[in-house]
Amino acid sequence: MGKFPEADLVLAGITVCRKCKTRNKKNTEKCRNCGSPYMRPKRREIRAKK
Ligand SMILES: [Zn+2]
Repeated sequence: MGKFPEADLVLAGITVCRKCKTRNKKNTEKCRNCGSPYMRPKRREIRAKK
C-alpha cells in the first residue's frame, strides 16, 4: 500500500509494455501501441529509503 489509496487503485489497473513502456489497462493482452504481448504490472510502490 502506498501513501494514497486513490493512487493504489489507479496503479492496480495499469500494466506497462516491456517493449515501449506504454501504459495499458490491466487485462490487455497486447500493447495498444506496438502490439507486443510482453506486459508487466506497473510498480505499485517507489522504494523509500529506510
Ligand atoms: Zn508496446
